[in-house]
Amino acid sequence: MEHHPSYLQKHASITRSRINNFINDNQWRDVNLKSVIEYLRLSGEPHVSLEVWSAPGQDRPTFEHAAKQKYRPARIGESFGPSWTTHWFRVTVNIPKDFAGRGVRFEMDTSSEAMIWSVDGDPIMGLTGGGGRERHIDYLLTEKASPHEKQRQFYVEMACNDLFGNGDYHQHPQDRNIYYRVNSADLLSHNEPVLALYYDLQVINDMANRISEESPRSWQALAAANAIVNVFEHTDLSTVEPAREIARQFFKAQGGDSNHQVYAIGNCHIDTAWLWPFAETKRKAARSWSTQLQLMDVYPEYKFAASQVQQFEWLRENYPSLFTRIQDKAKTGQFIPIGATWVECDCNMPSGESLVRQFLLGQRFFKEHFGEISDVFWLPDTFGYASQLPQIVRLAGAKYFFTQKLSWNSMNRFPNTTFRWVGLDGSHVLTHMAPANTYAAQCTPGELMDSVKRHKDLAYTNESLYLFGNGDGGGGPLRDMLERLRRMENLDGLPKVKQAHPREFYEHVESTAKDLVAWKGELYFELHRGTYTSQSNNKLWNRQSEFILRDVELLSTIAHSKDTKFGYPADELTRLWKLVCLNQFHDVIPGSSINMVYRDSDKIYKDIFASADKLRQRALDAIYGELPPLTATPEGTGFAVLNTTSWMRTSIVAVPAPLSPVFATQADSSLVQVCKEDGVVLTVAANVPGFGAQIVKPSTHLHNGNAQFVPARVYASETSGSFVLENRHVRVVIDNNGRITSYYDHAEKRELVAAGAAGNVFELYDDVPDYWDAWDIEVYSLEKYHALDSGDITIGEEGPLVASLQLRMSISECSTLTQKISLSAISTRLDFDTNVDWHENRKCLKAAFTWDIRSDLATYETQFGVVQRPTHRNTSWDIAKFEVCAHKFADLSEFGYGVALLNDCKYGHATLENKMTLSLLRAPKAPDEHCDMGHHQFRYAVYPHAGSFNESNVVQEAYQFNVPLQVLPINPSSLLAEGRELPLGQPCFSISGARNVVLDTVKLAEDDKTSYIVRMYEAYGGHARALLTTRLPASSAHKVNILEERMCEDDSNGELSWLSRSKTVEVVFKPFEIVTLKFTS
Ligand SMILES: [Zn+2]
Repeated sequence: MEHHPSYLQKHASITRSRINNFINDNQWRDVNLKSVIEYLRLSGEPHVSLEVWSAPGQDRPTFEHAAKQKYRPARIGESFGPSWTTHWFRVTVNIPKDFAGRGVRFEMDTSSEAMIWSVDGDPIMGLTGGGGRERHIDYLLTEKASPHEKQRQFYVEMACNDLFGNGDYHQHPQDRNIYYRVNSADLLSHNEPVLALYYDLQVINDMANRISEESPRSWQALAAANAIVNVFEHTDLSTVEPAREIARQFFKAQGGDSNHQVYAIGNCHIDTAWLWPFAETKRKAARSWSTQLQLMDVYPEYKFAASQVQQFEWLRENYPSLFTRIQDKAKTGQFIPIGATWVECDCNMPSGESLVRQFLLGQRFFKEHFGEISDVFWLPDTFGYASQLPQIVRLAGAKYFFTQKLSWNSMNRFPNTTFRWVGLDGSHVLTHMAPANTYAAQCTPGELMDSVKRHKDLAYTNESLYLFGNGDGGGGPLRDMLERLRRMENLDGLPKVKQAHPREFYEHVESTAKDLVAWKGELYFELHRGTYTSQSNNKLWNRQSEFILRDVELLSTIAHSKDTKFGYPADELTRLWKLVCLNQFHDVIPGSSINMVYRDSDKIYKDIFASADKLRQRALDAIYGELPPLTATPEGTGFAVLNTTSWMRTSIVAVPAPLSPVFATQADSSLVQVCKEDGVVLTVAANVPGFGAQIVKPSTHLHNGNAQFVPARVYASETSGSFVLENRHVRVVIDNNGRITSYYDHAEKRELVAAGAAGNVFELYDDVPDYWDAWDIEVYSLEKYHALDSGDITIGEEGPLVASLQLRMSISECSTLTQKISLSAISTRLDFDTNVDWHENRKCLKAAFTWDIRSDLATYETQFGVVQRPTHRNTSWDIAKFEVCAHKFADLSEFGYGVALLNDCKYGHATLENKMTLSLLRAPKAPDEHCDMGHHQFRYAVYPHAGSFNESNVVQEAYQFNVPLQVLPINPSSLLAEGRELPLGQPCFSISGARNVVLDTVKLAEDDKTSYIVRMYEAYGGHARALLTTRLPASSAHKVNILEERMCEDDSNGELSWLSRSKTVEVVFKPFEIVTLKFTS
């Protein structure tokens, strides 16, 4: 064909439109390139016949079950539903002679997700119907059909959901009544050279559009694309080859030596639950990953990384043949298991030990099933990264970290791309945040250019990672992405790109980068701050699960050490930890999933508590089994209490019912209290040893040094409407709304409440975020609130051990709050036991405390340590932290004095100047319309202390608030009679010389029943030299990492010395160091 000169540089935008029109679906589809991409498409009988069987309810039957059912004929255009139902199709295809010698594909668009199965029950690949960019509906039946093709049969499992669940995504709750239409089921053959030209033009066209007009390459691309349009003739396919030749000539120009190198890796982010339940995730992983295996066969250069060990385990259980194929592809290096953790967990709320278990479970699975652990901590999509992660990552045998989520920050652009992330203790990990700012890239020239443009550390390193493939709901890379990647490998005008294991990228950076910058401390995520509070029951149960498993492991280790026939419940504990870790997935515990997910996690927590209770009882039976249960009333005796924290403590405890009368009559009346409310008898358990037990007798005396025991008391103040709670330490004035108007410390002679202000003020905020309902509390929400003032308060308990007030308050016309405010005789701490009946719409309830304390920094507990954050709003970085995450406490201290706000399940905190707030409840309506509606019970406390935070025992007090002394269900009278010692009367572990060291975890070693593990950490941020004595059997002690491997063969480097005679080990700690010891008996 002949043509005139183009003059295209004079009308570039018109030429760009011309090229777009040439390659896209539009009104010119009958004459443009698209018109001839398909060679032949055949539908309906006799080529394709469909039969269907619909599974009952929301069942997701196995292939074996489904294949046995009775199928009925089905037709194109039929719709199937409602949401979450499953429909199995038996598909019979007859490939006619027309296709002989050609590649033939089966295309089925169910508008939903689906999976193709062979008649033998092998999962072959996933399908994604509908019109989105994730559309992927073709299955290659043969690369070259013979003229005598036999009839073929296979199955399609249609799931009535799309990649993003059911309904309008995250702005609304899921729609339970969606029906999905089967749009097509066709046989198809492409004109492969036309398809290749189409991919050529996609690349050239995007380069013409995205490369700056200042670069000649932009014009070369536009000219090449325009020339192709001029050469191509849709009625004459012999024009395809000359058109492709123009493309080849354009692709010949390569980039220079200093070009940026992109390391591309396929992936598909599969949220382990989010807009769909766990059960659907099991199928999503199978669908997405099987599709990738198909692509690997066609594209030998293709590499794909998958994280989240839980999904691997589900696959192993439910799709064993697919799991084996993945293992095979892992051996060839194409399928890359990555990530190191059990799930891609939230990193704000899980405890330190939970994070340890995420890695322990994850790395052990990788080692067992893929032969090696992952050295990359892979977490593209989590809502903030705690400051202890670098140390934990290092201790888990990994050294690299990947994310990109901080590119979502709403106020400040994070300043680094490739950097050393330095944690709380000084450990660092080489960290990279993909500069394309996505984990679902589409393999376009524009995105590759963004990888350079947005890279903030090009002065030190000239490479970046690039994660391509559809995700969130799975899907993954598509064929066209791999085709484009092939064309862009080394192309002038673009950075170079190659597919590689992410480790290759990190190793290259490690060996070549100069002077990488460092970022110290947490990677605070400036978005999704509502996730510290939404779905509050989930957060409560997570906290309780962490503590009950801690107790079970400690007690089971003790029981095992007494008698190895006890049978340490290792498998059951592993199962329970896997469940705890599963619910810590980054859309479950943050509260950003649909209602179905929380009904599932409710059941999981129920299982955890029931099973852990049984295990705890079993361990206690083994330790105290020789003693009769505490049933009858023994005369003149006491009961036993157990302390599972590592320090000695004194607490008020409830006397077990059978002994109530004895205590009520025999005990020193100042040390016994019969509660007015429920008749429960309280007494004092004094000086109970850490990790030990003690018998509490009616004759127990409370040692207050030389001081007299002063009972706690409560009385109405002479000032009308106020009440006073008072003990030896403090005098607290509470008004009719439950507000603390004065908190006077007798010993320090100082007032804690700021003049004219108050504590425990309930503030109700408008909570209408910008976009993401369950996810976000926005900064402007703080501008609009009112303080609740409809309180009514009465005197509750009147001492001598506990004095309390009972508050009732309406929050609105539909929500109410009751609160017991109590002060014991033995502490400065004021407790708030709270019940809320909550039926609000987009409101946030906070408790606020305004103290007479001045400090630029507040201290918040994080995993195995604390983090300090500003109390001012100087810069946009400070303002962005208007709501932050903390674990068991937040503390505001100045020189000489401070106060901690403790909690038993809350995570959303803030401190602005001298006002501390704790977020109690939110009321988002999407994606779960029922989020947090109903009854809630939770506790928090105010704990004033002399000295600054570092001089206080706030860490210990916060543990005690969460881990009460346990009354043991045994009758120790025979021991008392015989003068024998109570089991654990001598603590099983004791620490001396370092009050800043906390012993957190005791467990049996993995794979080694003769050893046990003790995990400690330095909690305040200083050095320490601690002596740890064990009374369990031990002949040696070694420092191990969290995978329980020896850190070095020789521990004689001054950090650890073992005194075998006293079974004492001396451990040197650096600030915030986590130390794991392995004792072998
Ligand atoms: Zn995610």
